[in-house]
Amino acid sequence: MIKNKNAIITGGARGIGKEIARTLAENGANIAINYRNFNDEIKAFVEELNSMGAKVLTFKCDVSNEEEVEAFVNEVKNVFGSIDILVNNAGITKDGLLIRMSEKDFSDVIDVNLKGTFNMTKAVSSIMVRQRFGKIINISSVVGVAGNAGQCNYAASKAGVIGFSKSIARELASRNINVNVIAPGYINTDMTKVLPDRVKEEVLKTIPMKKIGEPREIANLALFLSSDLSNYITGQVINVDGGMVMH
Ligand code: NDP
Repeated sequence: MIKNKNAIITGGARGIGKEIARTLAENGANIAINYRNFNDEIKAFVEELNSMGAKVLTFKCDVSNEEEVEAFVNEVKNVFGSIDILVNNAGITKDGLLIRMSEKDFSDVIDVNLKGTFNMTKAVSSIMVRQRFGKIINISSVVGVAGNAGQCNYAASKAGVIGFSKSIARELASRNINVNVIAPGYINTDMTKVLPDRVKEEVLKTIPMKKIGEPREIANLALFLSSDLSNYITGQVINVDGGMVMH
């Protein structure tokens, strides 16, 4: 399905992004991931992906920095020759109620989650347009669809990712580039581990399936959206959330 396709997964060294990278590599793709600080976990992960037969490229890049993004994307194009799949997964939270939220906490989250997605997509789409092929998958959140008290910055960034994706899906459709959004619910990663038990219990009550999702559940949809099986799907937002938010 995606054998020998070249994929960039931002934030691919941890959590959901790592599982997406692993799943795409298991299915034959070559993998490029960025990091902010190289560490032993990333080194071991590269070895794991190599052992599956994947070519792997790692590059220091903060997605909110346009120059670093351009350098990263150029390096992937030079080393791999093409960029077939882009997964904009890197994201952060800086939670707080609106009345107590600093402008910096608002801007930081927008800069990484929304501007980072813009920076990466702009740089990669010019390559995909020339190739007349591409699969772009943006990771939003059910919070971007439904809102969440204490996360107005995060919800705005993730709602922004949805509007951005629908717009570029329209711009790029005629160039054989699909753009879709995955909106995960509550997934078991570092991002959610830090939440107090009280909050986790409240969240569980809102999930009809009564369980927290695993990164593989997001990765399975990313694989489908990366593959030819999803060729007639573009501009869509698909929730993976155990039924937490229904449209
Ligand atoms: P993690 O916190 O586990 O991982 C986040 C990843 O993003 C890390 O690899 C991190 O790199 C990277 N990253 C953060 N900031 C930047 C930056 N400025 N430039 C480059 N990379 C950066 O998060 P999750 O795996 O849980 O989340 C992945 C995505 O899924 C995010 O977009 C998140 O909003 C979304 N999501 C997660 C949900 C969940 O329940 N976990 C629910 C809904 C959506 P580093 O190691 O350098 O920090």
